[in-house]
Amino acid sequence: MNAEIIAVGSELLLGQIANTNAQYLSKQLAELGVNVYYHTVVGDNADRLRQSIKLAESRADLLIFTGGLGPTKDDLTKETIASSLGKKLVMDQEALESIEEYFQKVNRVMSENNKKQALVIEDCNVLPNRNGMAPGMFLSIGDHHYMLLPGPPKEMQPMFQNFGRQAILNELKIQERIESRVLRFFGIGESQLETEITDLIDAQSNPTIAPLAGDYEVTLRLTAKHSTLVGATLLLDKVEKQIMDRVGEFFYGYGETSLSIEVMSLLQERGLTITSAESLTGGLFSQTLTAISGASSVVKGGIVCYSNEIKKLVLNVSQETLEKDGAVSEQCARELAENSRRLMKTDIGISFTGVAGPDSIEGKPVGTVFIGLSMPNDTAAFEIKLAGSRIAIRERSVRYGLYYLLKALKSE
Ligand code: ATP
Repeated sequence: MNAEIIAVGSELLLGQIANTNAQYLSKQLAELGVNVYYHTVVGDNADRLRQSIKLAESRADLLIFTGGLGPTKDDLTKETIASSLGKKLVMDQEALESIEEYFQKVNRVMSENNKKQALVIEDCNVLPNRNGMAPGMFLSIGDHHYMLLPGPPKEMQPMFQNFGRQAILNELKIQERIESRVLRFFGIGESQLETEITDLIDAQSNPTIAPLAGDYEVTLRLTAKHSTLVGATLLLDKVEKQIMDRVGEFFYGYGETSLSIEVMSLLQERGLTITSAESLTGGLFSQTLTAISGASSVVKGGIVCYSNEIKKLVLNVSQETLEKDGAVSEQCARELAENSRRLMKTDIGISFTGVAGPDSIEGKPVGTVFIGLSMPNDTAAFEIKLAGSRIAIRERSVRYGLYYLLKALKSE
């Protein structure tokens, strides 16, 4: 059983709007256990829409159309589908009444072309539109099922939820359900992660494993099909364990989360406070943590110690360290982290010093970064080498800081 989503509208092809309807419907269909193999976008052109219908019929059982149900000339979805299927358009009395009611309510005269919106394909099930005028439609002919939904998401989404979804469940007798689980990794590139689990990816069928590179991190989406939720969950657990055995050290969280959210919830849970001494990142770490609600119980404050003078005067970095090792050094990162923790009387101090570019500092190349981490019992420093723009180096340093902190918290 598989579906194709056909979005109709020249504005989509012109790049004026994004095809969020296809994204929304794909997600909904996945939850119902319907495979979506193709997304098609076609302009407001009857010939090309006809070709799209034929092509979709050759490779899908369920064709879902969005857009082009309105009253204007370029809205030709239902006319074209009706003619392709050898069907007539008929007036739907209920839809007509609700359109008339709408015009009475807003005290406007209904024009003739508004009546056109109440025309539906003969023999279809009408999907009522509670948020607009054009009704949706669902009909089955032979092995194919056709669903027509309006373009505006605020009309399309409730129509699908309230009527479209049920129409599919009824007609297609779906028994399978699909469960997904997203695993988030940091500190490992997409290609390296894929290499580590390449045999699992190659052998995948149920669950499927889909890697996705994101904002300086990689996610894996595992998707399992089973007749029951418990069965799907067990399938996901099994493959997750295989993945974790290989790359578990880089894993940091499930689903819609982030390194900063994970760090914040652990700090809150353990009642720990934190401060930061930021040279390289100029306050970005503090900004990232304080962007999360509930930060006030965790973040006491932080210091931007951009110049050596402030490193020395406020954070007590020794003259010897600055002269011998330099500001961009492991020793300086350690002193910054530890001294900031003492100064602010917090449980944890974290520091960032490095070269964001474009010029090198103290003979150290762009991308050299040291992160100091002072925990109640131990102070450590990490050296990383980063590539990319000034902004990317600073942002990635913050992510690494959060990652090391998370690992330290988890290993305690
Ligand atoms: P209307 O009755 O408002 O004319 P319609 O069913 O004829 O609705 P269109 O005219 O094709 O739909 O699109 C109306 C609006 O809906 C677009 O301007 C756009 O804002 C939104 N829209 C259409 N298609 C999509 C899509 N695939 N994804 C997201 N938004 C869409």
